Amino acid sequence: MLCRLWRVIGARAPRRLAAATLRSKPAALSLRRAVCRQTPHLFLRGSKVLPRTFRGVQRHEIRGMIGNTAPLASIRAHLEEHGMIDDSHTGDTPSACAAECRDVDHLLEGVRRFKARFYDEAPALMQGLVEKGQKPAVLMISCSDSRVDPALLTGALPGELFVVRNVANLVPAYAPDDGLHGTGAALEYAVRDLGVDHIVVLGHAHCGGIKAMLATAGGERPPREFVGPWVEMALAASRLHLPAEDGEQREMPLDHLKAVPFLAERASILGSLDNLMTYPWVRERVEAGSLSLHGWWFDLESGDLWVTDAPGTPLMPAT
Ligand SMILES: [Zn+2]
Repeated sequence: MLCRLWRVIGARAPRRLAAATLRSKPAALSLRRAVCRQTPHLFLRGSKVLPRTFRGVQRHEIRGMIGNTAPLASIRAHLEEHGMIDDSHTGDTPSACAAECRDVDHLLEGVRRFKARFYDEAPALMQGLVEKGQKPAVLMISCSDSRVDPALLTGALPGELFVVRNVANLVPAYAPDDGLHGTGAALEYAVRDLGVDHIVVLGHAHCGGIKAMLATAGGERPPREFVGPWVEMALAASRLHLPAEDGEQREMPLDHLKAVPFLAERASILGSLDNLMTYPWVRERVEAGSLSLHGWWFDLESGDLWVTDAPGTPLMPAT
């Protein structure tokens, strides 16, 4: 009954019916139950049905947060139309403590909020992920940098992103030897077992790994055991650029890259996309059209994102 009501309201009912229904407290409660039962990606909030931690939400107001799965499109469109989507809850509210606290207590509080949100309020999502397993559409290869978190940046829900993070978001070229290949293992599992549809290499401005690479190339290798050899793999690709005049790839002078390191950051993303194509099972799926490669560069200063959807094509502003 409730599910049928929801389908009617979400998909076909006139606006006034839906609006009137959502203004009613008992109906809001029923609707919330129906939605939570039917849609694991969505929960609704109304002041009378909220636990204490969520007081402060306006009376009769219903807030929702949903993912982008196709079956929910009509629901999301309806809620958006009526201003009932609250996407601010896709990330935790920043606290004054975030940049300064050196303990882990405030992080435990974050885990408690996560539990309240995904286990107490809308348990269907996590239950589904436990019972059916994960089936993410996207593998994100991003930097370990604390300022650029893929899930926070994209507002992804649990189960949406398969993530591997390393210094400078680098993909080594295919090398099936006895070495310990952490990035290769994650890549292999995502592509061959999980069957992701997209791979995104996510780089960013002010990348310490790229700075270390440029310093190493200039003869100032950092006195560290692992960082230097790791980031050096990206040097050749980071120096290659396409001048606008003739389209030929040229090597950029090191001094210029040091002065404008975002050029190296973006070029190294293209290098990682090229390296992805050296993995035979990646190339095979890309050529078959079942896997897409994307390069993203996040401008830490402005919040803008630059993207390319094709290896060898320069990144361009997208936001
Ligand atoms: Zn970085």
